[in-house]
Amino acid sequence: MKAVAVTPGTPNSVHLEEIAKPTLDQVANGNGVLVKVLKVGVDATDREINDALYGNAPTGDKHLVIGHECFGIVEAVGDNVRRVKPGDYVTATVRRPGGSIYDMIGTNDMTSEEEYYERGINLRHGFLTEYFVDEEEYIVRVPEGLKHLHVLQEPMSCAAKAVHQAYEAQHRMKVWRPNVAYVLGAGQIGLLTTLILKLRGLEVYTLARGEAPNLKAEIVAGLEANYISTRETSMAELVKITGKPDLIVDATGSSQLAFESMQHLGHNGVVVWTGITGGDKVTEVPSDSINLQFVLGNKLLLGSVNANRNHFEMGIRDLALGEMMYPGVLGKILTHPVDGLDNYKEMMRLLVEDKDALKVYVNVASE
Ligand code: BGC
Ligand code: ZN
Repeated sequence: MKAVAVTPGTPNSVHLEEIAKPTLDQVANGNGVLVKVLKVGVDATDREINDALYGNAPTGDKHLVIGHECFGIVEAVGDNVRRVKPGDYVTATVRRPGGSIYDMIGTNDMTSEEEYYERGINLRHGFLTEYFVDEEEYIVRVPEGLKHLHVLQEPMSCAAKAVHQAYEAQHRMKVWRPNVAYVLGAGQIGLLTTLILKLRGLEVYTLARGEAPNLKAEIVAGLEANYISTRETSMAELVKITGKPDLIVDATGSSQLAFESMQHLGHNGVVVWTGITGGDKVTEVPSDSINLQFVLGNKLLLGSVNANRNHFEMGIRDLALGEMMYPGVLGKILTHPVDGLDNYKEMMRLLVEDKDALKVYVNVASE
């Protein structure tokens, strides 16, 4: 079968690779699920893997099959599989366990080991292919009613984790009732985070460069949040209007903005960083001032990566609630479909060149 792969270490090596169709018996104890891939989303991570900034092939292979945002339909299951059955729509988690205690309790996203195993990203093949097999543990059912949001499940899981982590950490406050949140960036993670925070009742300001009207602003307004173009209103100016935010989630992919946001956080607040900056940019920051404010205000900076099964389930619940609350809004994120694995060059071109492509995804197969 066909797969879209890169040769890690070689820039711009994206190509089609012929690989064997997987079988259920590749998973021990009858715990395997064979999934027919329907759609796969791509994001900045895939672009940076193709730029050879990171990403490694599984041991023994020269190529890495990319794609970590999958949506598919179960084709067959092993004898001991209980949670899903043939015909169910599913997605899959991305990170696989290493050897730390966190990996042993199903929280692979919190591994304490430097090396991590992620399907389509590092040391494990991904989903941009026709079929894949995995353990039941890593397969998450997607309700039929959310089928039209297909590849958003994985990015949503990362947004769900980021917000959940903030609330978990803020138990330190005994009482934490955040009112104002800033979401930096209106890409998929920024928009999905906006939804999650709105569903939690916050007053949300989503900041991005572009001036309204544009699609991002339209989606933010559809979620009853406030779209702020930083070309018109800087973060510092916004603070004068809203007061300092209790929560900031950075999803810009700019380390400079991630650091800048620290200067605007309110007392007892939390900044969550979700951006993955593969480059080597160096930025000057007002370190004395940030240090002082963080100490005097008991502020917290939190990094959040990946998502485990629980976060996928949280994300799916919020997508379902989001569709009830703001019908038809989330689907607008899914802007740029590409038909068939053969069109992988067009997929990468859109990802690299098209600034209006909020979400690029591949229609791999129909049911
Ligand atoms: C993926 C995460 C992953 C992270 C780091 C993101 O694009 O969505 O699942 O953990 O990259 O590799
Ligand atoms: Zn991703």
